[in-house]
Amino acid sequence: MSKMYYENEINEQVLQGKKIAIIGYGSQGHAHALNLKESGFDVVVGIRPGKSYDAAKEDGVEVKSVAEAAAEADVIQILLPDERQKAVYEAEIAPYLTPGKALMFAHGFNVHFGQITPPADVDVFLVAPKGPGHLVRRQFVEGAGVPGLFAIYQDATGQARDLALAYGKGIGSARGGLLETTFAEETVTDLFGEQAVLCGGTTELVKAGFETLVEAGYQPELAYFETLHELKLIVDLMFEGGMATMRYSISDTAEWGDYVSGPRIIDASVKARMKEVLTDIQDGTFAKRWIEENETGRPEYTKFKEAGANHQIEEVGEKLRAMMPFINKGKQKVTVK
Ligand code: NDP
Ligand code: MG
Ligand code: MG
Repeated sequence: MSKMYYENEINEQVLQGKKIAIIGYGSQGHAHALNLKESGFDVVVGIRPGKSYDAAKEDGVEVKSVAEAAAEADVIQILLPDERQKAVYEAEIAPYLTPGKALMFAHGFNVHFGQITPPADVDVFLVAPKGPGHLVRRQFVEGAGVPGLFAIYQDATGQARDLALAYGKGIGSARGGLLETTFAEETVTDLFGEQAVLCGGTTELVKAGFETLVEAGYQPELAYFETLHELKLIVDLMFEGGMATMRYSISDTAEWGDYVSGPRIIDASVKARMKEVLTDIQDGTFAKRWIEENETGRPEYTKFKEAGANHQIEEVGEKLRAMMPFINKGKQKVTVK
């Protein structure tokens, strides 16, 4: 088994007294900034004027422009959208990357695919929580932590590894465990996971199930409960105790159906296509398309987003969730911008 790093074996001293600039205050940015601050570290947020700027001010963290934050920080964590990082890095961060500073990421995309090439005399590493930013914050507040990955790309000072571990502890990820990886492995597996299983695979599976029931004449509300709402309850059991715990809790009839029908849905052809998706990620085909999509103003992204928002399952879900206020009770609200 690979070595996992937990809180008690990490000395955060190395990061104490250093100024940490969190560039961006979105999903990951707000979580890293607030968690690090509450862990006792010296944090400044670097952000342009706008919604995020206002949110950071309201949360009481020190806020400056990206350039000012990058100039004064020892450790610079870039938590901007991946497709914006290159431009902001070149204009507002690179000029202040003096020798011995540390440049950080939460995903290896830009370094791995050659969009950002940091100078040789700075530390370069990533700390990537394996969960959405709002959960990184919520779990930290609850005393828990989203597990994370760390990877060293360049160790100019000899301290990169210790800094990465201390940072991972500061955001709470060492409570769940930190696992060492490389930029290449993190980038490819993160993209594959979100595309094939977590986001792409799951949303298409749910949608196909919902449509199959509705097209066969069953009530949309029932189809929503059956294919989307209940998914969380099932996944929670897998999260807590693996597939065996989930199968222990469901009926034997459900378990039997799982065994005989599951492989009819997710068969060898699905796995073959997963391998194609993995190859596209590995050889840069996916990255090239996404970079071009951004350079041309996101025409396809906009169409996909609109189609997703207009799907019947969203309309039905919105009405049903409004009648279940307990779903979001006591939780930090995640608003769709
Ligand atoms: P978000 O889209 O949630 O946040 C982006 C932030 O960047 C916002 O605060 C936005 O501010 C700001 N921003 C955008 N453009 C600029 C600009 N030109 N100048 C200054 N600020 C700007 O990003 P994520 O948190 O999703 O992603 C950040 C990084 O974390 C990425 O590398 C991603 O791959 C990685 N990651 C994300 C995860 C997640 O849970 N979302 C999970 C693990 C890793 P404004 O309000 O002004 O637009
Ligand atoms: Mg991910
Ligand atoms: Mg990702």
